[in-house]
Amino acid sequence: MLLIKNGRVMDPKSGLDQVCDVLVQDGKIVKIAPEIKEEGAEMIDATGLVVAPGLVDIHVHFREPGQTHKEDIHTGALAAAAGGFTTVVMMANTSPTISDVETLKEVLDSATKEKINVKTVATITKNFNGQDLTDFKALLEAGAVGFSDDGIPLESSKVVKEAMEEAKKLNTFISLHEEDPGLNGILGFNENIAKEHFHICGATGVAEYAMMARDVMIAYATKAHVHIQHLSKEESVNVVEFAQGLGAKVTAEVAPQHFSKTEALLLTQGSNAKMNPPLRLESDRRAVIEGLKSGVITVIATDHAPHHADEKNVEDITKAPSGMTGLETSLSLGLTYLVEAGELSLMELLEKMTYNPAKLYNFEAGYLAENGPADITIFDAKADRLVDSHFASKATNSPFIGETLKGQVKYTICKGQIVYQN
Ligand SMILES: [Zn+2]
Repeated sequence: MLLIKNGRVMDPKSGLDQVCDVLVQDGKIVKIAPEIKEEGAEMIDATGLVVAPGLVDIHVHFREPGQTHKEDIHTGALAAAAGGFTTVVMMANTSPTISDVETLKEVLDSATKEKINVKTVATITKNFNGQDLTDFKALLEAGAVGFSDDGIPLESSKVVKEAMEEAKKLNTFISLHEEDPGLNGILGFNENIAKEHFHICGATGVAEYAMMARDVMIAYATKAHVHIQHLSKEESVNVVEFAQGLGAKVTAEVAPQHFSKTEALLLTQGSNAKMNPPLRLESDRRAVIEGLKSGVITVIATDHAPHHADEKNVEDITKAPSGMTGLETSLSLGLTYLVEAGELSLMELLEKMTYNPAKLYNFEAGYLAENGPADITIFDAKADRLVDSHFASKATNSPFIGETLKGQVKYTICKGQIVYQN
């Protein structure tokens, strides 16, 4: 038995926000009450700390199989726990891609050994070929939680429509990375800074919002649910809002880096600030924050994308891979750039990092209640934290190293077990 004493218990599902005790037994929360006495229970003193549902991240890259020099499922899970996450959804752009039941089963075998809940999507098209749909039904039955070709946008509108129809038939949804290659230059650099500073053609906004506009309207026509991954442009927020207004089943996520920083970060942090879609303009950063506030964007997801230092530290920055390690800074970025900045309440932030993403996938997660799962994150919301390069992830490709952020995870508890402690 584990007794968490005297913490500020916050549950976005019920709205509970009260100093309480929480008693955990056999992987479940058995009691939440102002004063619990339980002889012999292991005790956590949570005085002055927030006790929240374990965080849920629906967009991570754990690189297994195929690129385990960057990360593997074990180190990815450790990074998640260190960041306060108890449930994550892996993307399928591994090598080989997760396109068939055999590969999926290997991945899930590895995932079930971890102490947190590690789930995965499968690809929409076979080996990311952009043409032939995978066997959605077989992959769902074998344990995939959804479908995405994240990393490689789907160019064929015909394939997008077929995928949505198939997903709808099976009561699931597809998630899309929206960057039309035909409208883009070199990825990872927003078009403005690309032109002015790097003298290249960069990643355009229109590549994102034009492809997104196509896909939300296909969702409208097919009445299928589509989830938009890591949107980054002001116009993209408007597109999602428009589609939702029409009654289309469109949901959207934003990554912490896109509500925290702009393209200028490339000038100080180099390739660690290179990502797809790229960091954009201040007007875009403001717009995604407004999207979070209005509810157009319901989910915060990290797009945790670890890379080896040797790959990032190449002489020609245009050759460096895109992406940043994100699980261990996500909560702090939310606390710093949304809560401390006065944009969202702490409860609203937690909703977008716990209950909303869990609800999207129908996971038994993301809330605190008696008889509910004992997946709990305990953190100090006010602590100052200097981000250093000591991550549980194999990777250190974070543009936030050296920055002082708010918030420190103290304990992560999953299935009733302490899986991280600081
Ligand atoms: Zn992506």
